[in-house]
Amino acid sequence: MSEDTVPGFDTLAIHAGAQPDPTTGARATPIYQTTSFAFEDVDHAASLFGLQAFGNIYTRITNPTNGVLEERVAALEGGTAALATASGHGAQLLIFHTLLGPGDEFIALRQLYGGSINQFNHAFNKFDWRVVWADADDIASIENAISEKTKAIFIESIANPGGVVVDIAAIAAIAHKAGIPLIVDNTLATPYLCKPLEHGADIVVHSLTKFIGGHGNSMGGMIVDGGAFDWSKDGRYPTLSEPCESYHGLKIHETFGNIAFAIACRVLGLRDLGPCLSPFNAFLVLNGVETLGLRMQRHCDNTLKVAQWLSAHDKVSWVSYAGLPDDPHHKLAQKYCPKGAGAVFTFGLKDGYDAGVSIVNNVKMLSHVANIGDTRSLIIHPASTTHRQLTEDQQKAAGAGSDVVRLSIGLEEARDIIADLDQAMS
Ligand SMILES: *Cc1c(COP(=O)(O)O)cnc(C)c1O
Repeated sequence: MSEDTVPGFDTLAIHAGAQPDPTTGARATPIYQTTSFAFEDVDHAASLFGLQAFGNIYTRITNPTNGVLEERVAALEGGTAALATASGHGAQLLIFHTLLGPGDEFIALRQLYGGSINQFNHAFNKFDWRVVWADADDIASIENAISEKTKAIFIESIANPGGVVVDIAAIAAIAHKAGIPLIVDNTLATPYLCKPLEHGADIVVHSLTKFIGGHGNSMGGMIVDGGAFDWSKDGRYPTLSEPCESYHGLKIHETFGNIAFAIACRVLGLRDLGPCLSPFNAFLVLNGVETLGLRMQRHCDNTLKVAQWLSAHDKVSWVSYAGLPDDPHHKLAQKYCPKGAGAVFTFGLKDGYDAGVSIVNNVKMLSHVANIGDTRSLIIHPASTTHRQLTEDQQKAAGAGSDVVRLSIGLEEARDIIADLDQAMS
């Protein structure tokens, strides 16, 4: 297709993957709230089970409502295929289950969502999947961390909570030089602000729970296959390149080509580990994704106004938001997220811990919750909540020192968000 016949982002956000229901004509995507699907006959059933034909068997593996959401997000990211999961963490589990065996390593940046740090350090350790940590602002530390056993690099495009923008293209180059894929968690940016596959990423992962769903009402995750990585070139990814015992010796990459990664995550990972998305949640997320472009622009516009206001406030010592021109990550933000630097950021209070506690206790409209990416503006003081169990040094390293407040700016009027912060700070 030529440039101007490819539908634009907002058009894809509404239409990609969907059509009127073939039996009822229903225009909105129905909720196929069923666990199982009737086979035409025994041969049909056998061809589905043997992966000779695509079709629905059981909602743990595929579901038509989820299928529309999968096609939608794949189109928005520019991927070849996608797989919906019960949560962002479920998606990460399936990705690494496909790539790693016991004793294998992967590199992840320290600047990550805290839940991912826990998953990698503790839960993955039980599978003997070994995380090696490197630094977003020290590209050499990533290259130095690569060993014979390294199977992937994992980063966030905009890193939670401090809004650090990461140099995706530079890290993709390091990964490809080593013959390994780059996985990008694009939850905070969404494909409206940044499309990691265009900058060299191989796999994109989302928590749909945040901005893509956007309304704070459903958990969900998504894996997007970039389709370009050669899984068979050196036998490093046997799940994809070698004969698969549970499918009579079928080789997944050879058979499915540029959607092989998404297929493997589905027919092995999701089939056997089980974190499937509820069709009802897929329906709610589909409603959310239709307005993703409108919402993200408003989120970003509001956030810049709030960040500017905080920067000029006499009780604030610093603001970490890559959308501000003097922020150390502003240049990278202009390259990777030119429409805005997202809606999650942190700021520091001159009066430290007590001032942080006082703000969250005194806000009226803002909600004190451990979430981000809602229509509502959200606030948290990490040192007294999510990072409470850490030592002061650990809190600082995680960007959650005692003076730090994290905001996720919503879709209310910016002046009302500022007015609430103003009264809570005085
Ligand atoms: C929330 C979040 C996750 C985990 O997603 P869940 O849907 O909560 O499992 C992963 N990465 C980032 C950046 C997140 O914000």
